[in-house]
Amino acid sequence: MTSTALPTTDDLRALARARLRTIGVRVTEGEDLPARTPVTGEHLFGLRAATEDDVEEALAAARAAFLTWRTTPAPRRGDVVRRLGELLREHKGDLADLVTVEAGKIRSEALGEVQEMIDICDFAVGLSRQLYGRTIASERPGHRLAETWHPLGVVGVISAFNFPVAVWSWNTAVALVCGDTVVWKPSELTPLTALACHHLLARAAEETGAPGDVHRLLLGGRAVGELLVDDPRVALVSATGSTRMGRAVGPRVAARFGRSLLELGGNNAAIVAPSADLDLAVQSIVFAAAGTAGQRCTTLRRLIVHRDVADALVERLTAVYGRLPVGSPFDGTTLVGPLISTAALDALHAALDRVLAEGGKVLAGGNRRLAEEAPAAAYTEPVLVRVDRQTDVVREETFAPILYVLTYDTLDEAIALHNDVPQGLSSSIFTQDQREAEIFLSAAGSDCGIANVNIGTSGAEIGGAFGGEKDTGGGRESGSDAWKAYMRAATTTVNYSGTLTLAQGVSFL
Ligand code: NAD
Repeated sequence: MTSTALPTTDDLRALARARLRTIGVRVTEGEDLPARTPVTGEHLFGLRAATEDDVEEALAAARAAFLTWRTTPAPRRGDVVRRLGELLREHKGDLADLVTVEAGKIRSEALGEVQEMIDICDFAVGLSRQLYGRTIASERPGHRLAETWHPLGVVGVISAFNFPVAVWSWNTAVALVCGDTVVWKPSELTPLTALACHHLLARAAEETGAPGDVHRLLLGGRAVGELLVDDPRVALVSATGSTRMGRAVGPRVAARFGRSLLELGGNNAAIVAPSADLDLAVQSIVFAAAGTAGQRCTTLRRLIVHRDVADALVERLTAVYGRLPVGSPFDGTTLVGPLISTAALDALHAALDRVLAEGGKVLAGGNRRLAEEAPAAAYTEPVLVRVDRQTDVVREETFAPILYVLTYDTLDEAIALHNDVPQGLSSSIFTQDQREAEIFLSAAGSDCGIANVNIGTSGAEIGGAFGGEKDTGGGRESGSDAWKAYMRAATTTVNYSGTLTLAQGVSFL
């Protein structure tokens, strides 16, 4: 396994400053919010976190902007998103560099994340002319019954570190064309990319004549998020992060009868059937399990392999795992960059200790890398572990590159194992047997929000709705009709008959 040289923290600091300058961001430095980089694990510079007063001011401004934005025709609202998409195209490389500095993504994945933002902008611009309601056949003569969609209000977006910009854009591009205004609380681990996105959107708003306060940014940690969660002016809290966070946020928003859209942790599995094309499966599995250093919500964490092909598949995976390049995410040959923090590495080692104590066996990987060059960073070889049963540790989401291999004999057994976890985000089956594929996709198959055939669990397109069931929170974002979460439907009845006819044949007076 090769390791590639790391840039210095000074280089990374200079790069971040240069990219922010090109985008046009002026950074207000402070003490209470450190910006750091997982590439070296070191401090870049200090920023200022939002205070309670800042939150109050931002919510008041976003609410006031909503009052004009909600009646701006939706295709005009699309103008600001179209301009944002153009600016993202122009600054794609700059933003990708910031994503790499802050989240540690390899270049191709960082560029992919920005591309996802561009794609959702295109989608949302089209959507701005397609916010359709339905007319419904009325039982009463001379009546028109219809469903009309209206904006909700201020949307509070709370996002996770691992998709520092794409998740924001899924919510924001769609919420803006729906007529909502947005207040964003990004992960405290990724404030620089947030400053860059906010600046580009503010510029798009200015250039298209939209109110500046259609979008506000609040940097900070959990305490700032909690202020959004509890404020009745926030009509929808769209929160992406761990299931632990969702368990805190969901009930608090519900207690004030607010709406929430929760995108939480996953524990995604792939079934590999006897008929699977193993070349295709190996490529897909390695990208899904080791890509993004195992830090996607859709990362493949469990592999459920038919006993007849288990040895052949494991042999191939072991060989590929043995030569995965781990190192600087800026190096074009690297496939596995750093984990976000040494705490994430500790979580990986804790899970590994537990699973080994239960009889699991490491097949490949698991060694820490670059510890001498960058002691504050967390580089690791992705780990492949064989387990003979699905114990508690396998049923948890460890947000690091650890893939558990289980075996099965019948498809029923594989599906039962597959669904026997608290989370329900993404899933896949590798098979050439159409019957097996259809069973997996049926109501008796995968219980996840995303179910794939002959594709890994990660790497969704924006056109489909994204989200999962059970402990993943039940939210849907991005494409399809996910926009409905950002609007409210009013059922309207118009009587043009000139006489009063009551529904259900009721007579009165
Ligand atoms: P996290 O839960 O630590 O933090 C996520 C965000 O929530 C941060 O902005 C944080 O400040 C905020 N937060 C935390 N507690 C809060 C509270 N009580 N009230 C309000 N805000 C609060 O998650 P993370 O470590 O940044 O991200 C990794 C997790 O996110 C993984 O579990 C991953 O699966 C999940 N994730 C899910 C999706 C999805 O779409 N389902 C996408 C990306 C990440």
